[in-house]
Amino acid sequence: MVDSQCKGFNSQLLSADKSIKDAHGAINTPIYRTAAYEFPNSQAIADAFQNKEMIPSHTYSRISNPSVESLEKKIKAISGGDNVMLFSSGMGAISNAFMALAYAGSNIVTSPHLFGNTFAFFQFTLAEFGVEVRFVDTDDLAAIENAIDENTCAFFCEVITNPHLEIADLANISPILKKHNVPMVVDTTIIPWCGFDAKKFGVDIEVVSTTKYISGGATSLGGAIVDYGSFDWSKHPRLKKVTPQAPFSAFMFKIKREIARNFGANMDPDTAFFQSLGLETLTLRYEKMSNNAYELAKFLETLPQIVKVSYTQLDSSPYKKLSDEMFKGHPGAMLTFDLKDQVTCFAFMDKLQLIKRATNLFDNNSLIIHPASTIYGTFTAEMRKVIGIEDTLIRMSVGLEELEDIKADILQALQ
Ligand SMILES: *Cc1c(COP(=O)(O)O)cnc(C)c1O
Repeated sequence: MVDSQCKGFNSQLLSADKSIKDAHGAINTPIYRTAAYEFPNSQAIADAFQNKEMIPSHTYSRISNPSVESLEKKIKAISGGDNVMLFSSGMGAISNAFMALAYAGSNIVTSPHLFGNTFAFFQFTLAEFGVEVRFVDTDDLAAIENAIDENTCAFFCEVITNPHLEIADLANISPILKKHNVPMVVDTTIIPWCGFDAKKFGVDIEVVSTTKYISGGATSLGGAIVDYGSFDWSKHPRLKKVTPQAPFSAFMFKIKREIARNFGANMDPDTAFFQSLGLETLTLRYEKMSNNAYELAKFLETLPQIVKVSYTQLDSSPYKKLSDEMFKGHPGAMLTFDLKDQVTCFAFMDKLQLIKRATNLFDNNSLIIHPASTIYGTFTAEMRKVIGIEDTLIRMSVGLEELEDIKADILQALQ
């Protein structure tokens, strides 16, 4: 037998879900399309509802489902996390995480450079429930420390910001958070598990939009929370009350037994099936896309019409050193570049024939978008300034097409 600790990423992934054998020996966990589950007798269903079973059974699919659980097991194996829970979208994962961490009078220390809905969730939704968001420059370690007080419920950032492409120096932020007993919550959507070992860099709670790399061709929306078991919740201002009764991490206990059930943003079994298949080809797609992105970024830098190119592996990136240290040579498939002005951006995008105008990231297709007029289009100019979105910026998610074809499409559209 091979020790599971020694197996490679893909072998672990493909052998993660061996605990429950399908009745017919199906290799892919089937889609368990059911709302409820039958029990042999009254005592058995009572035990299930009262959490008295050794191996918890499924009772109702808003709480758990075998297809979803199978994908959770795969993610647990490849992430090295202690506890994994899946949701109906990335925002479902992020909102559930903060519904468990935040409270009226608490604050979240974060960067203003956030995915649009995460920004809006903190700034508008949570603010109305009495949660304060404290924006800091995550490159400034002293500013992070100064923003923390006894009511800081979490530090949050994105591992690479979208679309700014800044990298938070997590290894150096982690000791500050540990000193003040603040959990580190990181959105790692941009770099999946094969490219980034979150635990090694001090991440306590990871949130991911599985819509992106994991879904495998943008088949479906999904989100994940991974708890690395590294935070002592007895020191958390809200969750310390939960610690005495929690048989596992107080944070996950609170989410699984209360928050997620009440909010109902559960992943659907069909989605879990698609995303399990997507996950199985993750490393292949990720490395190809990431290589394409790097080669394309270098090529774009040589074109006179392009004012600036951002990709963290470029020698011109201020984050090159961190990118090398953190991402095993594959810093993902998102890059950005600037053209002269918005009119030039629109004219360029309208001429593209292969690259598609769409908002998603890490589809198999190359996708392009003008963030200022779309994702941030309903924000005021002032708010866009706070978030740092220029109207000269174009974001591209590089797909699986042949690199030469992507280059040719860009060249003809720049004419
Ligand atoms: C897309 C995205 C989200 C939100 O995910 P959904 O699945 O669309 O809800 C959150 N964070 C980042 C970095 C994203 O790219």
